[in-house]
Amino acid sequence: MNKQYSIVYEYKGALYLNITNRCPNLCVFCIKLKWNMNYRGYNLKIDNEPSSDEVVKEIVKKFEERYYNEIVFCGYGEPLMRWDVVKKIISEIRKGMLNKVTNDIRIRINTNGMGNLICRRDITEELCIVDSIYISLNTVDKIKWYEIMRPFEQFKEGAFESVIEFIKNAKKSVKEVVVTAVDLKGVDIKAVEKFANELNVGFKLRPYLDEYEET
Ligand code: SF4
Repeated sequence: MNKQYSIVYEYKGALYLNITNRCPNLCVFCIKLKWNMNYRGYNLKIDNEPSSDEVVKEIVKKFEERYYNEIVFCGYGEPLMRWDVVKKIISEIRKGMLNKVTNDIRIRINTNGMGNLICRRDITEELCIVDSIYISLNTVDKIKWYEIMRPFEQFKEGAFESVIEFIKNAKKSVKEVVVTAVDLKGVDIKAVEKFANELNVGFKLRPYLDEYEET
């Protein structure tokens, strides 16, 4: 693993942005600790959270080397912990002044859906600046949700309801909303899929990751 930490990294033709290690949850399936903050050869343990300018510079540098089909806010932390920084980065990209980064590049956020709770207001209308949002719901059973997502004390109250509302409202502003679930034993995955279908949003089953995988 590289000693130097990465605030941007590549995966499957997309450029991922790792802008924070902070998260309101400690999900049972989270690989950040199991994989020792390593993600397929990248050290994602951030010493200092990068400014929007630093992230933009890194994006420009990476696009000089090759083209990416998508930019994804997803690292070992919840990107919506830094919603203002996310917005600044996207605004710079959309201005279309970043050399080889086209202003219509597909932009996605991977989130646990706690954005409204974190920001203490409904931010879903502001999400119209992204093309896609993947929301890690994992279960529609409230008790199970708390067991799986394990929010820290200050984020516990009303968390499940807030995530459900976040999904419903995000749908009004974002072209593509996808509800995701990790393939966990004892979870009614079909019920999550049904919930997504009823809301007319996408559904994606994610594999449960355990042993470290390099690729
Ligand atoms: S929301 Fe993501 S980063 Fe946070 S604990 Fe869960 S899996 Fe890990």
